[in-house]
Amino acid sequence: MLKNITPARTLFLSVEGVAAIMKKKGAAACIEGIAHYINEDFLRWEDFDKTARVASHSDDGVIELMPIADKETYTFKYVNGHPRNSRFGLSTVMAFGVLSDVETGTPELLSELTLTTAMRTAAMSAVAAKALAKPEPKSMALIGNGAQSEFQALAFSHLLGVKRFHLYDVDPSATTKLQRNLDQLGLESQAFSSTRDAVQGTDIVTTVTADKTNATIITPDMIEPGMHINGVGGDCPGKTELHRDVLKEARVFVEYEPQSRVEGDVQQMPPDFPVTEIWRVLAGHAPGRQSPDDVTIFDSVGFALEDFSALRFMRDVATTLDLCESISLVPALENPRNLFGFAYEKNAGQTRPLRDVVAY
Ligand code: NAD
Repeated sequence: MLKNITPARTLFLSVEGVAAIMKKKGAAACIEGIAHYINEDFLRWEDFDKTARVASHSDDGVIELMPIADKETYTFKYVNGHPRNSRFGLSTVMAFGVLSDVETGTPELLSELTLTTAMRTAAMSAVAAKALAKPEPKSMALIGNGAQSEFQALAFSHLLGVKRFHLYDVDPSATTKLQRNLDQLGLESQAFSSTRDAVQGTDIVTTVTADKTNATIITPDMIEPGMHINGVGGDCPGKTELHRDVLKEARVFVEYEPQSRVEGDVQQMPPDFPVTEIWRVLAGHAPGRQSPDDVTIFDSVGFALEDFSALRFMRDVATTLDLCESISLVPALENPRNLFGFAYEKNAGQTRPLRDVVAY
């Protein structure tokens, strides 16, 4: 049966549209909603046509394309990672993406994905931590206090009940900014003068730093029995955060193994180093935490399926709240074979005979 398709108007969700959704619904509720969609989609892992993202590396950063599809919906995200961008007054991470109908290839939604990526990354971190961290964690160290950090704090407070955040960043002004924002959110935080001091005594450690280097932000002597490490910033070849001996002594969980082996902190380990894809834990096919003393690591790099879930969620909410614009991204043709005629006859919004506009 033919679908009832309105020819080729594409919904557009702008940065302002997503900010309006965050204000209307609340950022915590958005993160919770995305987490719910992520859970749903990870439980049907086998339905997806998956590929590791396609990366274009340069001296200062990376630009990546992240495609994925099931039988009905295709999505991709364009995203960069340029840790030194603040010298130009630009963000480290900027993104946008598209959601399309698989049957016809029609682009149904074009959306900003910078704010949305921050929410989906925090949502994914929380989904993994629910399966891996000790029950009822009280405190979390947040190492790296940049653009992603408030979203991480909000997700762990809202979805796991974390009460206290220990903050550290090499740039004290980033910590001051984070503390001010957490104060306004009513979240308790304390600034520390080193990673070691911030990490001490916490249940969860989130590393969300940006530096294009093999950093050793977390070293084995900082690890305490039962800790869960949410490693978010090691997400590119040559860009890691955890000392390799930290990985050696822990149980390591990843999103999509072929991508994580190249991009995650596990890039430091031999190809047979054991890792478990997190969907297997969520689906009950593999154990998560097995004892209170287990040290667990979610070696997050960001996988296309999380953006698929986030785009679905944002489309559904934006449509309900009527916050999408409609744009003309591909031509709506009366006769699909007459693309040439469309370009000339509809030029400048006027319908004119072809011979009049082509002749000059
Ligand atoms: P950002 O540049 O806004 O913030 C990064 C912060 O890390 C800065 O404040 C910087 O001073 C701090 N930092 C750098 N080196 C440090 C160190 N050794 N110790 C403590 N702090 C340090 O970047 P952002 O948008 O917050 O992104 C943070 C990281 O998360 C990036 O590396 C990005 O690529 C990554 N990321 C991962 C995912 C994912 O899905 N895994 C998604 C989004 C972003």
